[in-house]
Amino acid sequence: NTSVVLFTSDLRVHDHPPLRAALAGAETVVPLFVLDRAIEDIGFAGPNRRAFLADCLTGLDRRLRDRGGRLVVRGGDLVEQVRAVMADADAADLHMAAGVSRYAHDRERRLREALAADGRRLHVHDAVITVLPPGAVTPAGSDHFAVFTPYFRRWSGQGPRAVLGAPRTVRVPDHVTSLPLPTREDLTGLSPGLPRGGESEGRARWNAWLRDGIDRYGERHDALADDATSKLSPHLHFGTLSPVELVHRARARSTPGAEDFVRQLCWRDFHHQVLAARPRAATADYRTRGDHWRSPRSAARDIRAWQEGRTGYPIVDAAMRQLLHEGWMHNRGRLLTASFLTKTLYVDWRVGARHFQRLLVDGDLANNQLNWQWMAGTGTDSRPNRVLNPVLQGKRYDPDGAYVRRWVPELREVRGAAVHEPWKLPAEERARHDYPGPLLELAEGLGRFRRARGLD
Ligand code: FAD
Repeated sequence: NTSVVLFTSDLRVHDHPPLRAALAGAETVVPLFVLDRAIEDIGFAGPNRRAFLADCLTGLDRRLRDRGGRLVVRGGDLVEQVRAVMADADAADLHMAAGVSRYAHDRERRLREALAADGRRLHVHDAVITVLPPGAVTPAGSDHFAVFTPYFRRWSGQGPRAVLGAPRTVRVPDHVTSLPLPTREDLTGLSPGLPRGGESEGRARWNAWLRDGIDRYGERHDALADDATSKLSPHLHFGTLSPVELVHRARARSTPGAEDFVRQLCWRDFHHQVLAARPRAATADYRTRGDHWRSPRSAARDIRAWQEGRTGYPIVDAAMRQLLHEGWMHNRGRLLTASFLTKTLYVDWRVGARHFQRLLVDGDLANNQLNWQWMAGTGTDSRPNRVLNPVLQGKRYDPDGAYVRRWVPELREVRGAAVHEPWKLPAEERARHDYPGPLLELAEGLGRFRRARGLD
């Protein structure tokens, strides 16, 4: 007998409950990935994530081939393709990971109905994409936590499931056909510094991080110039690494840095459990503050300057250019650029979230939308009116200015922290730099925001 394993955001063979369950119950297994037309149609995935996905599928195929198997890729309507593959393989069971978004819930429901009509079964596995399943811990009187600290406490108290090894052999029926694997070479418009995807790449990065980075994570992670975070986010987004395995192995180190790292992984689970309980929060305010954001048309010039990294605030511009170049941005950069767009320019968080989603290689519905809401003060943040001052943020998290000089070459010759306030440089030096003056005075933005929120 044969089972099908539908891969989604879990593109690995290690610690993969659906794959293990399928292999335990069947002699042959079809590992399936569907290039889902519905996801392509909504334009969710820009070229950076498509390229990373292509690497991940190539990597998964290679790992399956090492075990005697292969990956079957299909394209089109997901439910139709799954039904067709199950019919071809004469498979009775489909295994897959549980998702958290509205789309994922809908996909599960449609698959369950279609398979029931065909006399086949769907098995949905928890704790594949997150450490704990959303809803595994809840506060009294609610279906999810809206405050991180009590969530973290309860999350930490509940041990994750045990880690599963990679299977030794995977036998796939010969006659099930596959499309050719997509490759990143087929794509244009990629960020030049885009990282490589795939399980081997992810595991190598994780092992290097355990060796060289994690123990000093707590003291260094906010230093913008140091590159002292794990950069594992795209691997967690595509599931080439298992968050359950990461938590077990990080905890085994018992260092303060590793504990801080586990806490960040908990943030990921936190946002996933919010989105699972409130799928509308992907587009609608989690908590409305009565904002009447500037219309994208009237703010078009400011939005463009923000997207292109030409606001005249060097730390904002450096971070936005890192995003354009790498398809990734440091967390501190994400915080301060999101604050700048929503609170200083008073532009709707959805405009910023869309731009990030288009470029981020780790672009993730739960993490991106809910972090944007957090910074806009429409989400679960307990300080909704906090505004990050880009000059103070620059001086604090890039004290020597090295991060700005790396990404804003126009200012490369300015020494030290003076790079954060180029408008204070002598006029003749400013004239040499070809760098724009500030888009607006910070006090002007702050005043508009405070009036809009009824704070003055
Ligand atoms: P590390 O500091 O090494 O942290 C390890 C892991 O913990 C990360 O890979 C990530 O999975 C998780 N993590 C860390 N911080 C957060 C957080 N605040 N929320 C949720 N998970 C976290 N993260 C995404 O994965 N995808 C996104 O689309 C995304 N969009 C964001 C948008 C905004 C406006 C902000 C403020 C944050 C966003 N984040 C997003 C969270 C965070 O910035 C990134 O996860 C982090 O910068 C990734 O780098 P890293 O892997 O080196 O992180």
